[in-house]
Amino acid sequence: MKTYAYGYPRLGKNREFKKIIEGYWEGNITEKEMLDEIKKLDEERRETYKEFVDIFPEKEITLYDSMLDMCFILGIYDYSINTYFELARGKNALPMKKWFNTNYHYLVPEIDKKTKFKFSWNKFADIDSEMPIYIIGGWTFLKLSKGYDEMDFKDILLKLKVVYKEIFENFNKIHLDEPGFVFDVKEEDVKLIKEFYSDLIPKDREVYLFTYYDSVDFLPELYDLPFKGIGLDFVSNRENFESIKRNGFPDDKVLIAGIVDGRNVWRSNIEERREFLKEISKYAKNIFISNASPLFHLPITVGLEEDMDEDLKSMLSFAFERLYELKLIKESFFGKEDGKNWYKKVELGYDEEVRNKLKELKDDDFERKVDYEERKRIQKSIFNLPLFPTTTIGSFPQSKEVRKKRRDFRTGLISKEEYENFIKEEIEKLVNLQEELELDVFVHGEFERTDMVEFFAEKLSGVATTKNGWIISYGTRGYRPPIIYGDVKRTGPMTIKEIKYAQSLTKKPVKGMITGPVTIIAWSYTRNDIPMDEVAYEISLALKDEVRDYISNGIKIIQIDEPAFREKAPIKKKKWDEYFEWAIKSFNLIANVPPEIQIHTHMCYSEFGEIINYINKLNFDVISIEASRSKAEILNDFKRVDFKKQIGLGIWDIHSPVIPEVEKMLGVVERALEIFEKENFWINPDCGLKTRKWEEVIPSLKNLVKVSKILREKYK
Ligand code: GLN
Ligand code: ZN
Repeated sequence: MKTYAYGYPRLGKNREFKKIIEGYWEGNITEKEMLDEIKKLDEERRETYKEFVDIFPEKEITLYDSMLDMCFILGIYDYSINTYFELARGKNALPMKKWFNTNYHYLVPEIDKKTKFKFSWNKFADIDSEMPIYIIGGWTFLKLSKGYDEMDFKDILLKLKVVYKEIFENFNKIHLDEPGFVFDVKEEDVKLIKEFYSDLIPKDREVYLFTYYDSVDFLPELYDLPFKGIGLDFVSNRENFESIKRNGFPDDKVLIAGIVDGRNVWRSNIEERREFLKEISKYAKNIFISNASPLFHLPITVGLEEDMDEDLKSMLSFAFERLYELKLIKESFFGKEDGKNWYKKVELGYDEEVRNKLKELKDDDFERKVDYEERKRIQKSIFNLPLFPTTTIGSFPQSKEVRKKRRDFRTGLISKEEYENFIKEEIEKLVNLQEELELDVFVHGEFERTDMVEFFAEKLSGVATTKNGWIISYGTRGYRPPIIYGDVKRTGPMTIKEIKYAQSLTKKPVKGMITGPVTIIAWSYTRNDIPMDEVAYEISLALKDEVRDYISNGIKIIQIDEPAFREKAPIKKKKWDEYFEWAIKSFNLIANVPPEIQIHTHMCYSEFGEIINYINKLNFDVISIEASRSKAEILNDFKRVDFKKQIGLGIWDIHSPVIPEVEKMLGVVERALEIFEKENFWINPDCGLKTRKWEEVIPSLKNLVKVSKILREKYK
């Protein structure tokens, strides 16, 4: 029995990865210096692996993203460092997309019938170890790419096969990532997978196939293929184990059993894992033990959390600790170590009051008493908004100054009062600007917020934040997911002061702005000792308190942001109903407000087709969504269902620095009006403006308001 780990974070203990790559972008170091530094960093990673595990992949390192690396390995582009970073972040960068149901974004390769492939780029030139080299398999690679017609999938895959053949011929040991095998794979696709791999791998090669994030529905079909080992995730699901029990496991292959969690931070119960391993070994003769999914979803090490509560700390494992656990489990399996001292379960953050509130929830609490049409009438008379009302999504530029003040406040350089006064000034300036621009529904700008989840996490009890728990969200960009460890409760108003202040400065309605429970859960590590729906409802109850305070302070429009609503959905469709059930209820629990209060929600992605029926069950009045990229698709999605509510189809793509032209935005609206009624149409950007510059924001908003005025004139 061996231990095999993969996906260890590339970021480095002190976020060296970010510093090196960004240092190169800024011209502070040369290409060679950058590559040397990265090599050193990777060397450290390998040393860490070696300390604990027997096998790990070679060349996992990437300068930006592994899917992008594959584009070069497969010869879609000719490699040069400039081309590489141009595709990653230049003007014509590849689009970005969420990687499975995680919060990592990968670059989406663009491939069509005419794309030529050839094995190239010497990423693998200096292999000097016995470890398998890391690649992403052809099937997943192509499934996650775009630009081709579904009909051409097979032809392209078979073209790719030639290149993969060469790779397999060139290397003795290969770590083959095929997480796409956990999708709902159709029968003809299973056939294709078999066709692709059956004669691809020379006899004497050791190819270790890895799947993760969920189960493989067609596992026995993989038994016929010439893989030396098959990696399965035994943490996220029960199905893989059931399948092994039903189908057994071939004696000539290694079962790479993913039994420590790659996506959540709770320590493994070594004794329990050992027993599970014994259970599996009844069905499989050869076993490696491994992490259940890549470790880059975890921060580097708990050891860096000096200020963290000791009890909480003693329950956590990040990536480094997971490697240690693999070693422990192996030793424990052979009776060399009992593993008793590692796992701890301290009951932290138990809150009787919250538990009772949960128990008392009734169906009625999840319903809005007045139906939408009636609410619309009531709200119309209150707000008296013009046709095509204009608004923004919430945040405004987080300038250097804003970030510096926040830092100064955190490090004690300026007082709380000074900081709060500064925020007030920013709010006041923004309210004045919105008056000047003649927007209809205002926001306060979110200047006091770092991150829309971390901000709430810091204020809620039962949730911890970390000091160094960075993980990569894309490229070199990191964030620190909070840890939900106990019962969640509001300890006091979280956003009221700022919103109330903004409202006091204007007659226009200012939106109360909160992050919804699904997004808070999706972008945090979550406790798993109680069901997820209960965690969600606890957060909803806390946010409900905030909403109640909005209302008593005269705030009449409340926006519940749920950008992770789609992303958090399970990979397999058969698990969707169960997920959406609680996701919807957790939203509706908050949205259960009097009919006079207008509930907005915001979701920032453009693929609504699959989830539109679920969206229709959310009790909002107005939804704003991203649409500026694929309007046609989104309109078709809405065409198919009976969507009656108000919608703000983002007509300005804020992800680009380009200032949107009036004509172009008008065009988008005109097309949308073929589907939506003019009374239901809002005019807004497609997401928050925090990453934009003021020089871009002001002229863009001017154009946006112009669009609305032209439309009002035309459709009055
Ligand atoms: N209100 C948030 C903002 O404007 C929404 C961000 C998001 O959807 N990711 O920044
Ligand atoms: Zn958004």
